[in-house]
Amino acid sequence: MSGLYTRFVSSVLFPLQERMKQHSTVADHAALDRSQWLPTAQIRDIQSDRLRSLLTHAATHVPYYRALFARSGFDPAGVTSAADLQRLPFLTKAVIRANSDALRADDAQGLARFNTGGSSGEPLVFFIGRERVSRDVAAKWRATRWWNVDIGDPEIVLWGSPIELGAQDRVKLLRDRLMRTRLLPAFDMSASKVDHFIDVIRDTRPKMLFGYPSAFALIASRAQERAVRLDDVGLKVAFVTSERLYPHQREVIESVFGCPVANGYGGRDAGFIAHQCPDGSMHITAEDIVVEIVDGDGRVLPAGQSGEIVVTHLATRDYPFIRYRTGDVGVLSDQPCSCGRGLPVLAEVQGRSTDFVVAADGTVMHGLSLIYVLRDQPGVAAFRIEQESLAQTRVAVVPGDGFSVERSVPAIRKGLQDRLGSGVTIVIDLVDAIPAEASGKYRYVVSRVPVSGQTVPAPAAVEAAHA
Ligand SMILES: [Zn+2]
Repeated sequence: MSGLYTRFVSSVLFPLQERMKQHSTVADHAALDRSQWLPTAQIRDIQSDRLRSLLTHAATHVPYYRALFARSGFDPAGVTSAADLQRLPFLTKAVIRANSDALRADDAQGLARFNTGGSSGEPLVFFIGRERVSRDVAAKWRATRWWNVDIGDPEIVLWGSPIELGAQDRVKLLRDRLMRTRLLPAFDMSASKVDHFIDVIRDTRPKMLFGYPSAFALIASRAQERAVRLDDVGLKVAFVTSERLYPHQREVIESVFGCPVANGYGGRDAGFIAHQCPDGSMHITAEDIVVEIVDGDGRVLPAGQSGEIVVTHLATRDYPFIRYRTGDVGVLSDQPCSCGRGLPVLAEVQGRSTDFVVAADGTVMHGLSLIYVLRDQPGVAAFRIEQESLAQTRVAVVPGDGFSVERSVPAIRKGLQDRLGSGVTIVIDLVDAIPAEASGKYRYVVSRVPVSGQTVPAPAAVEAAHA
C-alpha cells in the first residue's frame, strides 16, 4: 500500500500544499522533467533566455543592478549567452551585506529572510522569493525521482539547527507526518543518540535518507561496530549534501545501508546547484543555474580546470544572485553523461568541510553545533574554529560592524564552553582575515581530536588524496 500513499502525496497532497503557498512547484517540475532530456545545446538556449530575462528585469526593478548597469553601460537586451556574464562583477557576501536593501526588487512580494553561515563561516542575511523556492523544490524533486523515490515515500532527514528544530510548530509536524518525513536533529551525535537514530531507521523503514555525509557515516560506523543490520530496511538511496563527501564515507554508508549514496551540491544561498544521477554524474540544474569556474584573479576557466564555483541563479528576480561567489572549489566537465540527460556535468566539487568535535565528556557533536554560537553573535564577519585538544579550542574571529569585544568575546567563550565543557580553555584570536587552505577551500571547523568509531583522516592526508 505504500506505493498508493506515495502517489496520493505526490499527486494530491503535495501539489495542494504548494498551491496554498502560492508556489509554482508542480508546473516547474513538469517543465524540468521534460527539459532534462533535451540536447545540451537546447538547454543552454533555455538558460540564455532566462538569463536575459533575469537581467532585463534587474535593470528596471533592482536598484543595485539598475545603478550598476547604468554606470557600466551594460545592456541586458543584448545578452545571448552565459559568457556575457563575464562583463559583470561578482556578487560577494560583502556586496550583499553592503547592499542588502538595494538588491531587493521593487516589485518583490512575499520575500523570506534567510541567514546562513556560508561556506567560509561568514554569516550572511539575504532574501528568497516564491519563484526561487518553487524552482529549487522542483529541482530537488526531479533529482529525487532519478533514484525511483518520490515525495511521499518515507524519508529520514538528519538535519537542522537547534533553532530551526525548536521552531517546529504543530502544522509543520503534521505536514511532515503526512509527507512521511521524519526530521532528526544532527547536532548531538553522542553514542546514545546515534543508537537512537539506528533504532528510528529500523522502525521507520525509510526509502530515502537525507543529510550530512559525516553524520550518516558516523551512524553507519556505529551500526557496523554493534553488528546491527541496516541493509534490510528497504533503503533505495542516501542523499547527502552540505559537506564534502569523502570516499571513505561513501564506502561505509553504501555498505552498511545497502544503498547507493547520491551526492548533492547546493545551499540556501546558492540554490540547488547539482545532483548526482544513478550513472554517477553530478548534473547541474542548468535551466536555473549558470555555473562558472573562476581562478584567483576572477578569470573564467574552461572545463577540466579547478577553481572557485560562481553561480547565477536564474529564478531570483526578487533578490538576484548574479555571479555569486560560493567559496567552494570545483571542476566542470565537458563530457556528456551516459544516462542521456542533456544537463551539463560538474566533474568535481570540493565543497565545504566540517569536522566533528568532541566535548570534554566524550560527546561527539557535529561541527555546526559550534558554528551556531558564532553565527548568533552580531558583528562576526568570518571565523574559523579549531579544536586543538579536548582541553583547548581556538577560534579566529574577523570582527565586523557591530562587533563588541566586551560583549561578544565573553559570549562566544561561554557559548562554546556550554557545548564543549565548562573547563575547556577557549582561545579567541581577533584577526583581519581567515586564509583559505592550500586547496583554495575554507574549513571552518577543524578538529584534531579523534572521534572513536569513525576513521577521521588527518586533514593533510585528505587534501593530498584529492589534490
Ligand atoms: Zn547522468
